[in-house]
Amino acid sequence: MRACLLCLTPFEPNEELEHLPRGHRLAFDPERGRLWVVCRACHRWSLLPLEDRWEALEELEKATVDRGHLLSQTENISLLRIGPLEVVRVGRARLGEEAWWRYGRELKARREGSKKVAVGATAATGALMMGGMWTGGLTVVGMWFLWSHGPRTVTDTVRWMRFGGKAWRGEHRCISCGYLFRDFAYKDRGAIALVPGEGARRPDLTVPCPRCRGWGDEGGLTMKGTEAEGTLRRVLAYHHHDGASERRVQAATRLIEEAGSPEDLTRILVRRGRRLGDIQRTGAIALEIAANESREQHLLELELRELEAVWRREEELAAIIDGELTPLGRLRKLKAGLLGGGTRE
Ligand SMILES: [Zn+2]
Ligand SMILES: [Zn+2]
Repeated sequence: MRACLLCLTPFEPNEELEHLPRGHRLAFDPERGRLWVVCRACHRWSLLPLEDRWEALEELEKATVDRGHLLSQTENISLLRIGPLEVVRVGRARLGEEAWWRYGRELKARREGSKKVAVGATAATGALMMGGMWTGGLTVVGMWFLWSHGPRTVTDTVRWMRFGGKAWRGEHRCISCGYLFRDFAYKDRGAIALVPGEGARRPDLTVPCPRCRGWGDEGGLTMKGTEAEGTLRRVLAYHHHDGASERRVQAATRLIEEAGSPEDLTRILVRRGRRLGDIQRTGAIALEIAANESREQHLLELELRELEAVWRREEELAAIIDGELTPLGRLRKLKAGLLGGGTRE
């Protein structure tokens, strides 16, 4: 099938499957033998003709076992990634869920994006230097400064544009001296202390008071609950703005596995209260993965529930198309014959 049956948008080629060389989003049901390609434009599912299905179904099921990463699943459907393909499999996949792997992809993607910015910045700096030489407007020292500080400054600018300068805004008074906090800047993030919060699953954040130096129970700015959670997520995303290498993500994942779960890792890291600036990089990456994990899992579950409703609708249609189209077609022919008209099929 080359294009969406409903809106005719062509399916993009994929290099992952020999027997189904088009489409990046697929849905299949190994039990009932259904296979759909999902349109990226209109999101509708196109059922593959019966004769094109069987080899592709076998290939897909094998790819699921060999290379599939399970992102999330309900009782009825599983969401997987196979290379670049997004795949809905009807029925529970017998694979371990790999939420950390999913987040690792995000960190790696950030790194790629940030490298591109740096390369672009180097080229731009080079062009600026050439321009400077031609107009004679730049001194040698000026050129050296641009060359050595250009890219770094540009990535910092990108980060600033993405996040703005403040990680938190609000009103909070220091309980010791009454100092009024109105905001908290990302650049001061190293001073944030993580302390066990209620239920120990989510840490509280506390920042020392600039006037009386008190923190935690003795003053400063303290954030709890969802406020702390949101701020921590923002600060960690800022902290790791340029992402992480695959090796680092793997090491962070191992840390989480050794701890037992993302929550356990967070609990261990903040047990005695830790300054963010004192947590080494792998630990901080693991903390970011853990901080995002529960929220992301929740969003995925919502999405999956919607997907399940879509699948039910498409399955109903598929049952009709697979089981009843042929007799219906015959009936129509018969009717046409009875009426004396020729069929044009
Ligand atoms: Zn379409
Ligand atoms: Zn104070």
